[in-house]
Amino acid sequence: MGAELNLLPISKWFNNIELDYLLIAGPCSAESQLQMIETAQAIHEVKRVTVFRAGIWKPRTRPGSFEGVGAVGLPWLQEVKNKFGLLTATEVATPEHIKQAIYHGVDILWIGARTTANPFSIQALADALIGVDIPVLIKNPVNPDIQLWVGALERINKAGITKLGVVHRGFFPFEKTELRNIPKWEIAIELKEMFPELPMICDPSHISGNSEFVPFIAQKALDLNMNGLMIESHINPSVALSDAKQQLSPTELLKLFDELIFRRTATNGNSSDKFIDKLREKIDLIDIQMLDLLAQRMDIISDIGKYKQQNNMSILQLRRWQNIIKSRIAYGEKVGLKKDFVKKILQIVHKESINKQSDLYQHRKPFNK
Ligand code: PEP
Ligand code: MN
Repeated sequence: MGAELNLLPISKWFNNIELDYLLIAGPCSAESQLQMIETAQAIHEVKRVTVFRAGIWKPRTRPGSFEGVGAVGLPWLQEVKNKFGLLTATEVATPEHIKQAIYHGVDILWIGARTTANPFSIQALADALIGVDIPVLIKNPVNPDIQLWVGALERINKAGITKLGVVHRGFFPFEKTELRNIPKWEIAIELKEMFPELPMICDPSHISGNSEFVPFIAQKALDLNMNGLMIESHINPSVALSDAKQQLSPTELLKLFDELIFRRTATNGNSSDKFIDKLREKIDLIDIQMLDLLAQRMDIISDIGKYKQQNNMSILQLRRWQNIIKSRIAYGEKVGLKKDFVKKILQIVHKESINKQSDLYQHRKPFNK
């Protein structure tokens, strides 16, 4: 089913502020006035951040965890806005939340992943947004169902919200993974293809679940030409009342923003640039897919290595290697790749595979090391 959205670019969301990226940072939850002001002060010093986030009402998976301070935290957000000139954003899950957030001058509302998964809730929020002019960001639903995400966009857009964007925060992992939520970049890309004008930002914090992975995921999102980032940052992450492991300290946030490479988006370029940008986007995507595939290949290599070790087999199976070379070169020639080029790539990949398996055999020195 084809869908259309009536959208305004981020640059037109706010009077007097022309944003090309939406860079949002702030604590998972508002905890106290002091925590908010201290965090905002530090984030204000990370010059690129323009929006301060804080969860006032927290949708927790199990009751008994910290469920947010509630409406008493809204004046703290207002204070952050007045003191530091940062725009403010918070999560809304009920029509009452919308009313209260707007009353306290919140600049951007976001709808959380658990809410996006429920069309009844989304419709109730859409009804409450009729006649309101405020930017709304819709996080992807917890389950990887793109239609649910599109449905939420349609409902909110139909209510008249044209300052509309999405937040890619990953999907609940059914498999065991290092990351808290699986990115499934292909779903984000599919949505972008359906709605090329739809601003899409990434939330590396909820994808990572651990502050250590945040820079890598953030860079990957920028490399995929996303329109911004939402990053959780707390003045003292170790004592945070929610999501302590994934929040960055302001120092870590500053370092991250120093190191991130922001790509010029196609919208800033002239028309000939746009042509190149489009092609480059494709190349970037292919490179990322190539690396993902190589990583998958290496995982399989490890499994084979373990099996060989348990069954006392040698690492190098010459016949198999010769067949690989022959068949891949033949395939490469069919798709227009030179023999020599394919051979060199295979040799590099093979060498790395042998090294990986050698690491499992403690009594052997890694190949060529
Ligand atoms: C959050 O941003 O703190 C949050 C609860 O996110 P999500 O809805 O993505 O889980
Ligand atoms: Mn959080």
